[in-house]
Amino acid sequence: ELANAKTTMNEQACISLNVELGDRSYPIAIGRGLLDDTSLLNRHIGGSGKVAIVTNTTVAPLYLDKVAAPLRAAGREVVPIILRDGEEFKNWESLNEVFDALLANKCDRKTTLVALGGGVIGDMTGFAAATYMRGVPFVQIPTTLLAQVDSSVGGKTGINHPLGKNMIGAFYQPRAVIADTATLDTLPDRELSAGLAEVIKHGAILDAGFFDWIEANIEKLVARDHAALAHAIARSCEIKADVVARDEREGGLRAVLNFGHTFGHAIEAGLGYGAWLHGEAVGCGMVMAADLSRRLNLIDDAAVDRVRALVKAAGLPVVAPDLGNERWIELMEVDKKNEGGAIKFILLKPLGSPSITNAPRELLDATLETCTK
Ligand code: NAD
Ligand code: MG
Repeated sequence: ELANAKTTMNEQACISLNVELGDRSYPIAIGRGLLDDTSLLNRHIGGSGKVAIVTNTTVAPLYLDKVAAPLRAAGREVVPIILRDGEEFKNWESLNEVFDALLANKCDRKTTLVALGGGVIGDMTGFAAATYMRGVPFVQIPTTLLAQVDSSVGGKTGINHPLGKNMIGAFYQPRAVIADTATLDTLPDRELSAGLAEVIKHGAILDAGFFDWIEANIEKLVARDHAALAHAIARSCEIKADVVARDEREGGLRAVLNFGHTFGHAIEAGLGYGAWLHGEAVGCGMVMAADLSRRLNLIDDAAVDRVRALVKAAGLPVVAPDLGNERWIELMEVDKKNEGGAIKFILLKPLGSPSITNAPRELLDATLETCTK
């Protein structure tokens, strides 16, 4: 089924996948210590042009030298661009700082942009690469679990607008993704759990066997067992890469990746962005979507219990804030996916497969009663 993502394992226990998008295809390398391979990044950057590394004030002290030194040793000019850390800086001002630095350093169309950081840096750098001189190559070096399993794959790039998240952007694929799992050693626990939400999502919605595997290995994942994390990242990338290969610009299938997100976005917006991490809201949103699936007779009670238990074991919240049902519905109605008013829910039928459907108001009310406090 997942024929588009081809996985191979080489002798350094580096897992390589390929995202199959015709002439925009690209490799994903996953492994512990990939940034210690001083020639790996160089091999993924063509020619001899400059390299602009976009990162932030948290990640730069941890990993910037490690990435920049081998490039400089290979004779390349490296331009570090260090942005402020935070979702609130995923905006025009930061994007302009990137353009200012690129122009001040005479970066031309042969310059490669490298995104070194989490999803915020990846999305902004990708958008900068899509638009600087009408498009320059870029490489993703994701350093959060969320970025390694989700945002670095698929080519959605962009920034926030004061009136909405991710409202300005472009589809633009990287030349390569290099996910060094050793970078996760420095990640705060809460951020690790947030990334696990998207891992669970991939299993719940598209791969029952992977869901079983996550259940069996959740303690190892929370304890940052390297082999378990590498497998979870690789399988997540394969699943997402396969969906993206079949529906690059979200014409249909790609919407299933929004499982848990209709409820999750309402939590994020209802509490004010930043109160809960995105992955926390998605984790709780998946429990709510499972509950609603049960009420529509798409899954049984045991499946709902499994989703709730796994989300909880990942260190994520399973009880949602009580925003009031009218407010809940108002927030879910503004979600981007809705066409013509009725809320489209991504539900489970059965666990491991998606079903996209509307829900009667009384069942939705019942889910909100059960899942909020
Ligand atoms: P983030 O980029 O804000 O990173 C979370 C925090 O971890 C930040 O403070 C960051 O500086 C820090 N950090 C990063 N790497 C670290 C490391 N190795 N050690 C210690 N600290 C580290 O958040 P995120 O969860 O990675 O990404 C969220 C963003 O991704 C959102 O803006 C969201 O819209 C976007 N996103 C995009 C897609 C997509 O398809 N493009 C998909 C999902 C999410
Ligand atoms: Mg998400």
